[in-house]
Amino acid sequence: MTQASGTLVFFAGPMDSGKSTLALQMAHTQSAHDRRGVLFTSQDRGGHAHITSRVGLERAAKEVDPDFSFLNYIREIREQGGRVDFLICDEAQFYTPAQIDELALAADEWGVDVFCFGLMSDIRTELFAGSKRLVELADRVEMMPVRPLCWCGRIGTHTARVVGGVMVVDGPQVIVGDMDAGDGATDAVQYQVLCRVHHRLRQPKPAGTTLSPAVLPFG
Ligand SMILES: [Zn+2]
Repeated sequence: MTQASGTLVFFAGPMDSGKSTLALQMAHTQSAHDRRGVLFTSQDRGGHAHITSRVGLERAAKEVDPDFSFLNYIREIREQGGRVDFLICDEAQFYTPAQIDELALAADEWGVDVFCFGLMSDIRTELFAGSKRLVELADRVEMMPVRPLCWCGRIGTHTARVVGGVMVVDGPQVIVGDMDAGDGATDAVQYQVLCRVHHRLRQPKPAGTTLSPAVLPFG
């Protein structure tokens, strides 16, 4: 018997656009009618995998490290008589392209509905590897409707890493948590959402302006 294929959807948006809130809402909604699902996240700030939204919701989730196999995980559940109807995948920008391929396969072969949430691009404005693969494979890419504002009031579209008030565009693609450079540097790493203009001009929020920047990590 052929099982109806599931869908793979990518909800993309900058930090502070409510992705984790939507992920948790989606988990709640999809759990109706005895549907079974699993929640995933990656690079969780506290070392204990949770999906945490800025409006105060939180659910335990499974951490996705680079060696994790979605297919093996689902297969084990099924072999034990369990069901997996849907997956909620937060911070999907950090997943590897091979893991995104697995998610597409789970949708196609096993009828699993997969809902991914993540940032589109990194501090250099380049697509994250996981996001790129999602754009290539997803049935649908949805842009988050709630758009954070740049300090200038324009729609914020680009993520900036700010260290000690200075925007930096080099360094590793991912820094989560306080930066511990090992050289005694204590400047906190902060992320801000800027409009394209101020990202290009490398002008983060000037000290003293009233729009408060978003703080770590992505959300
Ligand atoms: Zn701006």
